Amino acid sequence: MNILVGQFGHEANNFCTKDVTYEEFISLNYFTGEDSLWRYKNVEHLFGGIIKAAEEHGDINLIPTMDLMNPIGRMEKEALDKIVDNIISMIEPHKNDLDGVLFCLHGAGRAVGVEDIESYTLEKIKAILPDNIPIMSALDLHANVSKEMVELSDGLFGGYEYPHIDFFNTGYLAMKTLISSIENRVIPKMSLKAIPLLLPLSGGFTLREPITTLNNYIKNYIKENNLIDATFFHGFPYADTSYASSTILVMTNNDQELADKSAQELAEHVWEYREYFIPEIISAKKAMDQAEEYSGDGYVLISEVSDNPGGGAPGDGTHLLKEMLDRNLPKTIFGFIYDKDVAEFLHNHRVGDKVTFSLGGKCEKIHGNPIEIVNAKIKNLSNGEYIATAPMIKGAKLSFGKSARVKVKNVEIIITSQRTQTLDDRPFLVTGADVAQYKYVGIKSSNHYRSFFQDKAGLIIPCDTPGVMTGDLSVLDFKYVKMPKYPLDLNTKL
Ligand SMILES: [Zn+2]
Repeated sequence: MNILVGQFGHEANNFCTKDVTYEEFISLNYFTGEDSLWRYKNVEHLFGGIIKAAEEHGDINLIPTMDLMNPIGRMEKEALDKIVDNIISMIEPHKNDLDGVLFCLHGAGRAVGVEDIESYTLEKIKAILPDNIPIMSALDLHANVSKEMVELSDGLFGGYEYPHIDFFNTGYLAMKTLISSIENRVIPKMSLKAIPLLLPLSGGFTLREPITTLNNYIKNYIKENNLIDATFFHGFPYADTSYASSTILVMTNNDQELADKSAQELAEHVWEYREYFIPEIISAKKAMDQAEEYSGDGYVLISEVSDNPGGGAPGDGTHLLKEMLDRNLPKTIFGFIYDKDVAEFLHNHRVGDKVTFSLGGKCEKIHGNPIEIVNAKIKNLSNGEYIATAPMIKGAKLSFGKSARVKVKNVEIIITSQRTQTLDDRPFLVTGADVAQYKYVGIKSSNHYRSFFQDKAGLIIPCDTPGVMTGDLSVLDFKYVKMPKYPLDLNTKL
């Protein structure tokens, strides 16, 4: 059995002011051919689960294509077309020998003039394949699922958890179901129900009550009603597409009526929990005041949730870092800020050199101005390569690119040349720092960081500075999302 697999993931933050070119889009993670798939064998990743399900079956020939994923601003139409052309050219040689296609499409992308890039991509793939080749997709929990995506797919899968510690299971279930459908053991029927909820990323943490209870309810509902799957997609408001919202997607074995009824019932149940997804907004000043008041064991972890590169924010914002520099508290470390030019500049020096440079604040005005760093001492220079330990991507070989750690007065700052978020202690370790030796630790991430730090930090403070990923949706200028939506209108009805 020949199954073609690949990933084209775009999480579009439409509040970024610049559209993204093809070169920018592929600069984060782009692998093609064999390497795009097999590097994830035994890794906690969608592809890891896909490989496991295929190997368990024993008679599956997986055909890899590409692994491309970037959470960033809206992409130029030319960029989208070039990527889709690449996908099509990779499918073309195999199109008459395929039994199925499993393409991971994230689900929250958009391009100039194309609001729903997933449907756009699925249509192009379908157009070159013979009829009746099933196409399924493993999406991200933050997918904005459209009716068109459902119509163009034979199966769509998400997960339950944010941090996405169940990516592996999602990929596994998607591949299992695709195989069952190819072997005519199931006939998937889907039903989509939109929930008029814009769920800010920083409010979506699932490993806490009452959200654990909600997720357990959905998992039990699946078992009791004999569903193939049911997903509460949180959605991604920041894409600002007309259909951006939370959704319920139910999949049954050949029972449309049951799928429709279940989607309605689960949506009604999720709706009762809506207020628990609205985060408290804590400024940098308030976050540092709280940090200073803490007298318990361990370090205080302050995460700048509104400048999370994992949701399209630049990662070079300076609001929280500036507050930490102004306070100049002993044992402070910021891990990390993205600034490729500064990382390159530092790598032209040696450890021990004293340097002066302008840091961050170069991508989006709302994230703050560059900070003048004067007479900082270079403590470490690193190539940034590491193996991830965060539960959601454990075992993956990744890189921060050229990285450095500098110290200015009491404050140490880690600078990278790769625009990603902090998921675990790797940015500290690769630049020679042990996070446990510090008292005040600043990072940038909305929730994924919690899969590693939740049990390790003495105190966690999510800090929401002005930015394109703020949890305070009332300050964002939504142009396209169909209103009304909770929490912007508290009287919204399901
Ligand atoms: Zn996500």
